[in-house]
Amino acid sequence: MGDTVKGLHHITAIAGDAQKNLDFYKNILGLRFVKKTVNFDDPGTYHFYFGNEKGEPGTILTFFPWQNIPRGTKGAGQATETMFSVPPGSLEFWKNRFEKENIIYNNPSTRFNETYLVFEDPDGLKLALVANGDDNRTPWITGDISEENALRGFYGTALTLSTYEATATVLTDLLGYEHLETHVNRHRYMSKNNANAAVIDLVHLPDENAAGMGSGTVHHIAFSVKDTATQMNVRKKIEAHGLHITPQIDRDYFKSLYFREPGGVLFEIATEDPGFTADEALENLGRDLKLPAQHEHLRSELEKRLPQLTY
Ligand code: ZN
Repeated sequence: MGDTVKGLHHITAIAGDAQKNLDFYKNILGLRFVKKTVNFDDPGTYHFYFGNEKGEPGTILTFFPWQNIPRGTKGAGQATETMFSVPPGSLEFWKNRFEKENIIYNNPSTRFNETYLVFEDPDGLKLALVANGDDNRTPWITGDISEENALRGFYGTALTLSTYEATATVLTDLLGYEHLETHVNRHRYMSKNNANAAVIDLVHLPDENAAGMGSGTVHHIAFSVKDTATQMNVRKKIEAHGLHITPQIDRDYFKSLYFREPGGVLFEIATEDPGFTADEALENLGRDLKLPAQHEHLRSELEKRLPQLTY
């Protein structure tokens, strides 16, 4: 199919302190730090990418750490829960780890016949680990997180919406999702074209206040397409649906389009190519500060100005 959207590509959120963000995702959750670059639209700020070994689509969580930004507020028009897939049986390991590291978490709970564990990052971003025996993706392994416990990549995300019907139509008619199940006010949609990173839950809260951007909130979610040709077919469908969508923007590691879905969440369509080995070897991913060509002339200034990081 020429217009196939394959589940999530990446999720981008806002953090406060860069070092705390790096320590949490790299050391506590054990994700690979696959790229250290800057926000292309605001080069005085880092852009961190975390993922599996190669930073494959469906595993990539990215952050803009803005050192002194106030906390955001959770609410309608926002992606409010980022879910990772973990092996069944690993939730006890993670619960013990969160307890030891003073991470805020809830005891494991069940919904849609799945067990999941909700927790927060240092900025209050809501995350969940979902026990999933059907995920065959190869995880990134660290010294203290073995294969039997490691995160596989995204399971999905939940959007909080004051009205959800128009968003559901975007998912089903434009992005290749189908309705799976509804539990009370939580409507589960799943990508027909991808086995992993496939779930989008629409959480319908009619009286919820609008979300406010700030640290601990998701900035946008991106869906994956193979290449530019597929992306342009998707773009045509989105435009024909009456939604405003940007031209293609080059993000060096993928090419992007952005549009705001009717419920207020910023959606992106991102290509699989060229990926994170575009400017450094697989074994060196995340080691050096990488700048896009348009900001390379700022390197010496940025290296002084950006927060110094320890690994
Ligand atoms: Zn993005």
